[in-house]
Amino acid sequence: MRTLGTILVTAVLVSAFWLTAFMSGMISVAKGGGNEQRAERPIHDDEPQRRAAREVALDPDADPVTLAEAIEVGPSGMAVPVAGIAPDELVDTFTQARAGGARRHDAIDIMADTGTPVVASAPGTVEKIYFSRGGGGKTVYVRSKDKRWIYYYAHLDVYAPGLKEGQAVGLGDALGTVGSTGNASPDGPHLHFAIHRMEPEESWWEGRPINPYPLLAGRRANG
Ligand SMILES: [Zn+2]
Repeated sequence: MRTLGTILVTAVLVSAFWLTAFMSGMISVAKGGGNEQRAERPIHDDEPQRRAAREVALDPDADPVTLAEAIEVGPSGMAVPVAGIAPDELVDTFTQARAGGARRHDAIDIMADTGTPVVASAPGTVEKIYFSRGGGGKTVYVRSKDKRWIYYYAHLDVYAPGLKEGQAVGLGDALGTVGSTGNASPDGPHLHFAIHRMEPEESWWEGRPINPYPLLAGRRANG
């Protein structure tokens, strides 16, 4: 599964990041062998390797294949939606209180530097691109093909070049970059990531949240 996921993510990212590379005028040549290199890496990376992965993720000149190696796919087959972040670095913030304790967070916050690539945790179709003033800021809603799930990405700094509603995205495709738009603190840029269970006829703002943490981290939720 891990190898299959890696190949899939690599294949998808090679195409996804071409566009980014093209837009920044820095097209690099994808070289083969990325999958093999990745397969040889230990499952639990040590800290220097993670730092290196983040540096790759922030480098606009990075080779797309190298960048794909910075994406971690969890045991559920979903990718950690921020490049360079490993599943065991995630913190379960789903049940944290928000807005003075009146509301539950119902999402996971993934801390990362501004500009770190945000990628699709699961495949689907971009259903809504929406600026939530005072809330999520720059947001993207990706819906699964069977319409049963929405994946919500918020506080983005910028959207991936050309991202538009109705567009199909694959696992690991670039959606934008980590930022602090909306009500996120500029001192703590992060991706706010939520998963909503949907009835097929429901609209993008509806649905019931489930905790992304166990799916991404492969561990039990905290509470
Ligand atoms: Zn959040």
